[in-house]
Amino acid sequence: MSKDKLQYDVIVVGAGMAGSTAAAIAAREGLNVAVIERGVKPGSKNYFGGALYTHALVDIYPDFFDRKPPLERPVTETGFWFLSDDGLVKATVQGGVVNSDPIDAYVALRAEFDPWWAEQAVAEGAFIIPKTLVEDFLYEDGKVVGVKTDRPEGDVYAPVVIVCEGVNNLLTQKLGLIDHDLKISKTALAVKQMISIPAKDINARLGLPDNNHGMAISVMGDVSMGLAGLGFLYTAKGALSLGVGVTLDALQESGIKPYELLQRYLEHPAIAPLIKDGQMMEYGAHLIPEGGWTTMPRLYTDGVLVAGDAASMVNALHWEGTNMAITAGKQAGLTAVEAHKKGDFSAKSLSTYQDKLSDLFVLQDMKQYRKFSAFLKNHPQFMDIYPTFINDALGMFFTGFGKPKRKLYKDILRSLTSRRPLFKAIGDIIAFGRSIIGI
Ligand SMILES: Cc1cc2nc3c(=O)[nH]c(=O)nc-3n(C[C@H](O)[C@H](O)[C@H](O)COP(=O)(O)OP(=O)(O)OC[C@H]3O[C@@H](n4cnc5c(N)ncnc54)[C@H](O)[C@@H]3O)c2cc1C
Repeated sequence: MSKDKLQYDVIVVGAGMAGSTAAAIAAREGLNVAVIERGVKPGSKNYFGGALYTHALVDIYPDFFDRKPPLERPVTETGFWFLSDDGLVKATVQGGVVNSDPIDAYVALRAEFDPWWAEQAVAEGAFIIPKTLVEDFLYEDGKVVGVKTDRPEGDVYAPVVIVCEGVNNLLTQKLGLIDHDLKISKTALAVKQMISIPAKDINARLGLPDNNHGMAISVMGDVSMGLAGLGFLYTAKGALSLGVGVTLDALQESGIKPYELLQRYLEHPAIAPLIKDGQMMEYGAHLIPEGGWTTMPRLYTDGVLVAGDAASMVNALHWEGTNMAITAGKQAGLTAVEAHKKGDFSAKSLSTYQDKLSDLFVLQDMKQYRKFSAFLKNHPQFMDIYPTFINDALGMFFTGFGKPKRKLYKDILRSLTSRRPLFKAIGDIIAFGRSIIGI
């Protein structure tokens, strides 16, 4: 390292899921890596539902589970809950494919997991600089050669900067890699409460055999008050994490306050008993970049790569974000290593990052789901009419004792067509299919 200036091989901005991964991979290959994090420590600014996905974690550290990561419960039951204003239909799966070894997903708390994930990068040789905000880039001959931080004499140099700044991608905008600020129709605000409840009560209330069983549930219907969005429920060891995310434009247009949404969800007759006598441990809100492909910036320029939420790498239907961030962080780290081997940090050299992601689920899924956020906005029936219909239809089906069944089926059909004409309902289902198949 030069005495005159703080010089590294790679600078990573942000010690979240993407940043600490990129740093670990580059440091493992012998590069001198600095991770600059604005929070007091990694994780202090980070927030999610949420579940982490084993495939991505084990891809970075094959001995991941031997390292004793701070995880909560494995996800042994997952699926959808459909809420009407006073009812609930559960469509969840447990056992079978979900009962894999290792289990595919684990609930985690980011305040605990992120510092641990960053420690793994430090063990690979990365250096974390906390409490430091990256404010801008340093340029030579029009190419990025480092970053300006908010510290006195805080310029830090490296021929490649990996930007993993999360959803509020101000630096990515500064670079001109994207020509707009956050789009309110494509960004969700998620509000969440973490409610402490004794583990034995969680198990009894949710029908979980013990603390080694847990749930990851997406909630549709009454939870979002008809706005484009989804709710969620995750089980930590001694707490439930419940929240709801809706797009910013829907909030603005409806005038509904995020805390009203969450409060109503928590007071729902099917939800309130789950959290009875619980103590609120945490209340927070965070943005989710749901635009995916449609709001993705260019992923590289001279001396820079962008990964994770900063690049809109989220699949809103599947609650996938951390695995995209980790996978993209890994590919960014590998691309930085290759650039060092070639001694070429030009945009052309770094463009192999995009090629790598195109061969993986990250860009393939983002492209496939590119119409999904528009679909949600244009089909509010999926947040309102259909979850209620599913509740009514199943309720009628399972209580239709002693009635001629032809009449029962007619009543069920009428409960749909009184809300939505049949041809429109069929059109909605086709539109949903097209939005997830990507045609
Ligand atoms: C409520 C909610 C529920 C979710 N549930 C799930 C889930 O169940 N499963 C899942 O996979 N994903 C989920 N996600 C998405 C997931 O959390 C994100 O996709 C993931 O955290 C993105 O990782 P990242 O590293 O790109 O960004 P982040 O984890 O946000 O990290 C960005 C880091 O950069 C730092 N930073 C930002 N700007 C600067 C700067 N200028 N200088 C220095 N440091 C900076 C921040 O402090 C932060 O540490 C959820 C998100 C939310 C909000």
